Amino acid sequence: MTKFTDLNLDPKVLKAIAEAGYESPTPIQAGAIPPALLGKDVLGIAQTGTGKTASFTLPMITLLRRGRARARMPRSLVLCPTRELAAQVAENFDVYAKHTKLTKALLIGGVSFKEQDAAIDRGVDVLIATPGRLLDHFERGKLLLTGVQIMVVDEADRMLDMGFIPDIERIFKLTPFTRQTLFFSATMAPEIERITNEFLSAPERIEVARQATASETIAQGVVMFKGSRRDRADSEKRALLRRLIDAEGDACSNAIIFCNRKVDVDIVAKSLRKYGYDADPIHGDLDQSQRTRTLESFREGGLRFLVASDVAARGLDIPAVSHVFNFDVPSHAEDYVHRIGRTGRAGRSGKAIMICSTRDEKYFDAVESLIQKEIPRLADPQGPGHAAADHGDSEPEVAEAPKRKRGRRKPDSDSPAKPAARTEAPRAKEAEPAQAPVAEAPAERAADKQDRKSSGNRDKGGRRRRDDEPTGLGDDAPAFIRLSFAERRAG
Ligand code: AMP
Repeated sequence: MTKFTDLNLDPKVLKAIAEAGYESPTPIQAGAIPPALLGKDVLGIAQTGTGKTASFTLPMITLLRRGRARARMPRSLVLCPTRELAAQVAENFDVYAKHTKLTKALLIGGVSFKEQDAAIDRGVDVLIATPGRLLDHFERGKLLLTGVQIMVVDEADRMLDMGFIPDIERIFKLTPFTRQTLFFSATMAPEIERITNEFLSAPERIEVARQATASETIAQGVVMFKGSRRDRADSEKRALLRRLIDAEGDACSNAIIFCNRKVDVDIVAKSLRKYGYDADPIHGDLDQSQRTRTLESFREGGLRFLVASDVAARGLDIPAVSHVFNFDVPSHAEDYVHRIGRTGRAGRSGKAIMICSTRDEKYFDAVESLIQKEIPRLADPQGPGHAAADHGDSEPEVAEAPKRKRGRRKPDSDSPAKPAARTEAPRAKEAEPAQAPVAEAPAERAADKQDRKSSGNRDKGGRRRRDDEPTGLGDDAPAFIRLSFAERRAG
């Protein structure tokens, strides 16, 4: 088995890796680091969870350790499709580069230009950016890309889904053709193949296996739910969620609760808080600083329940989640695998519990046929009929989303970035949200608009997409970890 010490990495990088507790390189690291260190282009076919971030960050740090950054001329560039992924790469960089003097700047929407300008002016070794924001800086004359020696494109397939490929092509053309390119994608769609043929030069191709099914370490279950009356169904469903959480007791140390729509993310989080559960929402309409704070606190164990939309949670590396609750059945079956892949990681056992309303049954069938497995039916923890009897504790303070017509339910990713209408004023003090539920920060809205303007930001069907709206394959349990677990089981 390859060891990190065999890879020719800088001793300062090796020290940081050892401190991070990594014992050996993952397959994508063992495959990508040697050619990257030789200055070759790399085409890595791997998804989040495989250790791919370190597979480009470690050689970059090693290659850049000598030399100095000049004002407004970054020496390397990492492009990520979403703000969260860019922020995650920046965090990884900080960990791996902590014993070096290399500097970085993070250019993402939703953060003021001023601070970012100041960082670029000082000169940075590594610039980590989303394509729209990078081009904004470039167009404002604040940035020169002619000093870029290494360019990384991360999650190219999601760039494609989000309509960023024209931006990427433009950025490629703004950098010197002598640059080294490290290019990562979970899949190789024809459009991706085309740009790699055009912009990569004799790349070393490294492909690592991806997850096809849910991990065997995850215990799954579903509770079929029918409200007693249409106007009570929503609050009864939230009461059922609370019972399911309670029934897990202390075993549920932390959990992600997935909802299909942003308005429901807000409502469920607010409702849980009202009942004394430590819960916060995360979705694409919340302002960036709040999203970052919430995520950090969840990662560090300061927050027990993260109520999330698929979009906000995709691709994020959140370790050790004991439970996943699907408040809704995802309307895209593959999202089910991504969602539940948040638990049962690294060989730990995890539990994924889903609520299936009558109207979601068609989606549920699609999930079962995708995973080719029957999901065990669970009973309501307080017995049949209890959901109906529970409407007494319905939540007048929690504003319901405006009712939509049948068949027009939009998932988070499709919802227009419009604040949810509050149909009722809050009555109880504690029900007041810390901030307006889905109010968009003006800066973020402007940044998103700008991102869309500069990228065209349309998907293959011509539909407009948001900056942080990924599709395609995302964040499965780490393949290398699952592999070793499977091997251990087999052994
Ligand atoms: P990534 O695919 O880059 O998002 O990485 C997934 C997770 O694996 C992150 O939490 C990394 O810190 C972790 N990781 C990366 N490389 C290794 C390694 N060689 N050994 C153990 N964990 C790793």
